[in-house]
Amino acid sequence: MSSCEKVDLKNLGPSVLNELIASLGKEKYRTSQVLRWLYAVGVGSFDQMTNLSKDFRKELDRLSFFSNFKPLQIEQAKDGTKKFLFQLMDGNRIESVLIPDKARLTLCISTQVGCAMGCQFCLTGRKGFKRNLTTSEIVNQILAVRSTLSRNVSMTNIVLMGMGEPLANYDYVLQSLSLMTCRDAFKFSSRRVTLSTVGLVPEIERLATRNIGFQLAVSLNASNDETRGRLMPVNRRYPLKELLAACTRFPLRPRARITFEYVLLEGVNDSLQDAKELVRLLRGIPSKVNLIPLNEAPAIPFRRPSEAKIRRFQEVLTGSGLTAIVRASKGTEIRAACGQLEGACQTRSFCLL
Ligand code: SAH
Ligand code: SF4
Repeated sequence: MSSCEKVDLKNLGPSVLNELIASLGKEKYRTSQVLRWLYAVGVGSFDQMTNLSKDFRKELDRLSFFSNFKPLQIEQAKDGTKKFLFQLMDGNRIESVLIPDKARLTLCISTQVGCAMGCQFCLTGRKGFKRNLTTSEIVNQILAVRSTLSRNVSMTNIVLMGMGEPLANYDYVLQSLSLMTCRDAFKFSSRRVTLSTVGLVPEIERLATRNIGFQLAVSLNASNDETRGRLMPVNRRYPLKELLAACTRFPLRPRARITFEYVLLEGVNDSLQDAKELVRLLRGIPSKVNLIPLNEAPAIPFRRPSEAKIRRFQEVLTGSGLTAIVRASKGTEIRAACGQLEGACQTRSFCLL
């Protein structure tokens, strides 16, 4: 049997892996052991799974394999942000970004090659959509980046904010999330995992029916349908009223809030009127607002507002009792910041490999 016909174990969520292992007549704790080797330890071959019998390892090897990623390039910005470029089996390329910030070390991962949503201010969106990432391609980003860290350093947070729209790749993304939070696999607390969506209402509703504790972030980026529709084609399918109704219904843990992201574009959505509209819009929803001054790029036909304008916008929000932070853009000189990922390293001089 060639490895192409074998199943990639990293494409199976914990429960499907358990079914496979049970079908081989093995007990449940064997699934926990395999999960630990694959994700908690991160081994490269079945031979390294030393607490499994030789026969069991052989049997697994006959039926399955597991893929691994190796970065094609790593670039580092002055602020410590690192961008990892990965080449997939079919030649497509994706990126992940590791962002150190005080006590936190956050990994921003991709969920698709490109993105079909076409937001006007986003380089990923302007490049169009190629395909969904599989579960293994999502979790292998975490494993490959983690393997570059020193022993005493650990990743604290995962954000699904790289290339792609996570909820447009619902099944594989949900399966990856179950591995991220599984006690035997990555073991991240669900509070430290954030999924950011452009606002696909049916998928938000679907997510609401699952008892998932991870953080939800919604990219709002405008406070009225006219502006949002111009910037984000998705708004024509799911206008603000429907989107915010879905957010209002979304079940949150006690004291949890939905994060609303708002990319500030000069002269487009940054007026005091826009800020006041935003306050009205979010009334009644447990929310916090992340203001993201536009990360500029030659292909993006917008500018970032002045610092003074950004502060005034923020003050309208905080003045009305909303929590609103201005997100510092990290890694801009290596195009590692929000909306700048396009699957290609920019500057060979920063390459660490
Ligand atoms: N597709 C998802 C997640 C990836 S985009 C989403 O849209 O939410 C992650 C964040 O980057 C979004 O909040 C998006 O609004 C923001 N973003 C996109 N392009 C940007 C740019 N050029 N400058 C700053 N933020 C940008
Ligand atoms: Fe896609 Fe998000 Fe970029 Fe919009 S902002 S094009 S949804 S990656």
